[in-house]
Amino acid sequence: MAKYILALDQGTTSSRSILFNEKGEIKSIVQNEYPQIYPKPGWVEHNPMEIWSSQLASAIEACAKVGASYADIAAIGITNQRETTIVWDKETGVPVYNAIVWQCRRTAQMVDEIPQDMKDYIQEHTGLQPDAYFSATKIRWILDHVKGAQEKANAGQLLFGTVDTWLMWNLSGRRIHATDYTNASRTMLFDIRKLDWDQKILDYFGIPVSMMPEVHASGHVYGSSDASFFGNPIPIAGVAGDQQAALFGMCCFDAGDVKNTYGTGCFLLMNTGNEAIQSQNGLITTIAAELEGEVKYALEGSIFIGGAVIQWLRDELETIKSAPLSEKTAKGVNDTNGVYLVPAFTGLGAPYWKQDARGTIVGVTRGFNRKHLVRAALEAIAYQSHDVIRAMEADAGVPLRSLMVDGGASANNLLMQFQADIVNTRIDRPKMLQNTALGAAYLAGLTTGFWKSKDEVKKNFKISKSFGPQMPEDIRKEKLHGWVKAVKTAIFWAELKDE
Ligand code: ADP
Repeated sequence: MAKYILALDQGTTSSRSILFNEKGEIKSIVQNEYPQIYPKPGWVEHNPMEIWSSQLASAIEACAKVGASYADIAAIGITNQRETTIVWDKETGVPVYNAIVWQCRRTAQMVDEIPQDMKDYIQEHTGLQPDAYFSATKIRWILDHVKGAQEKANAGQLLFGTVDTWLMWNLSGRRIHATDYTNASRTMLFDIRKLDWDQKILDYFGIPVSMMPEVHASGHVYGSSDASFFGNPIPIAGVAGDQQAALFGMCCFDAGDVKNTYGTGCFLLMNTGNEAIQSQNGLITTIAAELEGEVKYALEGSIFIGGAVIQWLRDELETIKSAPLSEKTAKGVNDTNGVYLVPAFTGLGAPYWKQDARGTIVGVTRGFNRKHLVRAALEAIAYQSHDVIRAMEADAGVPLRSLMVDGGASANNLLMQFQADIVNTRIDRPKMLQNTALGAAYLAGLTTGFWKSKDEVKKNFKISKSFGPQMPEDIRKEKLHGWVKAVKTAIFWAELKDE
């Protein structure tokens, strides 16, 4: 009897492999960092061969650590950094260019040049606000800049894939060229309601449909790993982009369930069930991870600077020695002394979308000190998350029931308590920290019968700590009022510059 599900978690800075047992516990974990390539300011690339080799090595090592062979592994699930774009030769399997990473801004101008009616069409059909972040313009860039690439693409000799597709292609011995709905929904080329590539958008970008992978549900038997890797083939039965996998891993299976990952930035996703809600409040609509036969959607909002504001205090201002120490420092004062910090270092994302806004500290008086500043930084993470949550509630027409959290900064109890206070909802922090990998494992395991039902996997879910709202309503309102004024100031200052 197979004892494990193998989850491949291919992230932006490292490739990780985890073996989970039937209780959803980690039995083996191996993580390999791999190099980031910065050819010019604002450009970010990865070597696709390094993505693959670091991932495969971590998988083999994770198995070796517990002496697991193919017979012990029921299925493989894959989760990955989203949007990152790879184009390779169908015959040789060799990439024609490095992977262009989601963070890469090289195609920003290409997005600006999209005519407004096309932008509207893209938003309506893909659920995304056109941006360089998504795969479409990155493919166009490769076809424009690699000699002979467009001709080869037109002749059906090139394949495109996000990282999941690239890994599956290699893992299957080049038999599978496929992706799942969640990854497809980040390309800016996929009609999220028709569940198919959008020909009009493909034509606009000059991308032949022959480059595009087949698309299936996240929980689906895509094929098997090649016998050469683990001794015998193992079914590949779960695929999802990292944020959607995390939502699934935290058992946010139902409409209205929301999770926030507090990493460098914050990623919020709300499951909206069968409805693809078009946001009126600056959020994007995306497909949630689901098993075959069911299609669910999510609203997504990202915050550029989340835990990164704490890194900034540590590394640039040298206000604290370590990120975890921010909690103790902030606890040294009862409030921020009326000060707000808006960490709009790279502009403001959802729901504001003000690229030119810049970091702002307001309300400083003589009594303001280092501890107040640290507290204001932590509170800013919570205020920004609050703003995305209220936008989600407005779009979905349902109030937040509770919030599931993970990511490095979710370890901060002061931040979590303030978050519960300011959104006025309970927060649940799960015991499991590897929810992204667990989500991929659940998809693969539920698809192959390793787990029988979602109810069964829900029993694995354990909360380490809950935070209930304790702040009096008048104080909550007053604090939020101050935050709104601070955000307006950050935007106002940027707009003033241009007068
Ligand atoms: P990523 O996956 O984006 O690299 P992580 O989930 O590892 O991020 O979280 C790291 C981020 O969380 C860093 O920006 C760090 O400053 C912040 N962080 C880590 N621990 C704490 C803490 N106890 N309190 C506040 N912020 C923290």
